[in-house]
Amino acid sequence: MKRVRSRLVMLIAIALVAVAPAIFGSFTITLMNYIGIYAMAALGLVLMTGIAGLTSFGQAAFVGIGAYATAWYTVAHGGSPWIGLLLALALTALVATILGVATLRLGGHFLPLSTIAWGIAIYFLFGNTDALGRYSGLSGIPPIAIGPLSFEGTIAVYFFIWAVLGIVMLLCWNLLDSRQGRAIRCLRGGTALVESLAIDSFRIRLAVFVLAALLAGLSGWFYAHIQRYVGPIQFDIDAGIELLLMALVGGAGQIAGAVVGSAIVTLAKNVLQDVLPAITSYSGQFEAVVFGVVFIILLQKARGGVVPIIKKYLPRPEQNVLPIKASPLPRRQRTSAPGQAVLAIEGATKRFGALAAVNKVSFEVKAREVLGLIGPNGAGKSTLLNLITGVLKPNTGTIVFQGADITKLPPRRIAAAGVARTFQHVKLRPNMTLLDNVLLGIYARTRAGFLAGALRLDRAEESAARAEALHQLRRVGLGDRYGDLAGNLPLGQQRLLEVARALAADPTLLVLDEPAAGLRRLEKQTLSDLLRDLRTQGMTIILVEHDMEFVMNLVDRIVVMDFGVKLAEGLPAAIRADGRVQEAYLGGVA
Ligand code: ADP
Ligand code: MG
Repeated sequence: MKRVRSRLVMLIAIALVAVAPAIFGSFTITLMNYIGIYAMAALGLVLMTGIAGLTSFGQAAFVGIGAYATAWYTVAHGGSPWIGLLLALALTALVATILGVATLRLGGHFLPLSTIAWGIAIYFLFGNTDALGRYSGLSGIPPIAIGPLSFEGTIAVYFFIWAVLGIVMLLCWNLLDSRQGRAIRCLRGGTALVESLAIDSFRIRLAVFVLAALLAGLSGWFYAHIQRYVGPIQFDIDAGIELLLMALVGGAGQIAGAVVGSAIVTLAKNVLQDVLPAITSYSGQFEAVVFGVVFIILLQKARGGVVPIIKKYLPRPEQNVLPIKASPLPRRQRTSAPGQAVLAIEGATKRFGALAAVNKVSFEVKAREVLGLIGPNGAGKSTLLNLITGVLKPNTGTIVFQGADITKLPPRRIAAAGVARTFQHVKLRPNMTLLDNVLLGIYARTRAGFLAGALRLDRAEESAARAEALHQLRRVGLGDRYGDLAGNLPLGQQRLLEVARALAADPTLLVLDEPAAGLRRLEKQTLSDLLRDLRTQGMTIILVEHDMEFVMNLVDRIVVMDFGVKLAEGLPAAIRADGRVQEAYLGGVA
């Protein structure tokens, strides 16, 4: 029912676009043409800034590259606009790849700053190039045509623009609901989680960046052939800020926000251009001031933009999970025989300044055992888990997983080798559903690329992945809530969700940092039963946990840490009886 209603909303939107030319005059339709063209570029920013969290003030530069590419080709060489389109897309993709490789590895504010730099530079580049008509630009650009059929009329081009916009929005929508799209949505909120899921965050960032640039290039192509003229001023840093404003006003995390934002800003500009000259003779500067104020109000009052506010009154589309008949995903081959060492830590030391958080620690974890790692707060347990999973690198010592030295591997490669983890401080994507969070864990077990996701060629694999994710959710007792947002779960259940996500990776070694903290009694029992099950199925587990009853009843062996060093290692009964351990940690209560 909900689904039907949200389809209805979409159909109404399409119908409105279709009948607009019958209602409005050519002035309004021309305005709508520009709204559609800007929406394409803003859509790129929705993906890149709103969803992936990479702020760009330089989107207009890519619009400019697309526009100039086709303008130069069709004007100076009399070429076809269709070849011009290919050229525009190829050139924007090329430039974006080069800029992306140069800047996307650097974190923090470097990217936004560099986007400002190229946003400014492009203006001078266009303005100083003879072949591009210097500051007077290129005019006489031909209209788009298919054979003798020219799209010169406003209405023909209107339908063309909005059809293309509709298609690219649909493709983006599909993409976001696919394997790579989930990786894109996961980018925002830090790379620690992303890399722990065996996702190459740089590659995903670069892909989003190029995708955003391609949308800008497409927008530029339309712009050049509609405006029939291009000049540097149209693509300067102001234009880039305006595009960002569109994405933010509309709702930066929303596909539909691109259109809504483009409409609001374009219409507002139009009104201002009519109104301001009547009030002041400095209308140009005033426009910038008004937009600046809107920007600030928006950041203060409505960070989410307009679309989320509208959406509150619309039905939320239900997440489609139920696979039509999925063949199960392939499982990892577990090579180690029981009793063989899966993980061997040898003399691992990690210093933070003068503090040795982990100090010459050595032990092995054997195949199919549950190893408990205990010790008081600050003993170095989490730091040790970070060494194992590659988040931190040891100052000295080695870590060997299934016979291979993983000491220097990045977390992503260690995850890919078969180590999955949970975090002491839960790392989830609160705005994604439970199902999507668990699907993130399946990333490394699936193959679908960006194009396959956008074109829905990934459905067989996606069904299998969803079936697997649902299975893992059920295992931790969250199967009924698959469509809820992860952020709405109480903390204890968020931990269980992390366990489900880790299991979804089908790991050989499962690393759990205080998974039972905050769980209720019954939930602890479910978790304990699950971990026992996993051991029977051949998984190896390292478990950090403070609840001694939970640990003692579950684990095969225990390693005790205190002040960074290994205090003791042995069977639970022996550890319980060990005087030093009691003194350091158990305080005589055990
Ligand atoms: P546990 O998980 O056993 O409670 P941790 O491994 O989190 O202990 O911390 C061990 C010690 O290392 C603590 O004294 C902690 O303050 C310190 N520590 C942990 N991470 C860092 C860091 N990134 N920088 C500096 N000190 C740290
Ligand atoms: Mg800890």
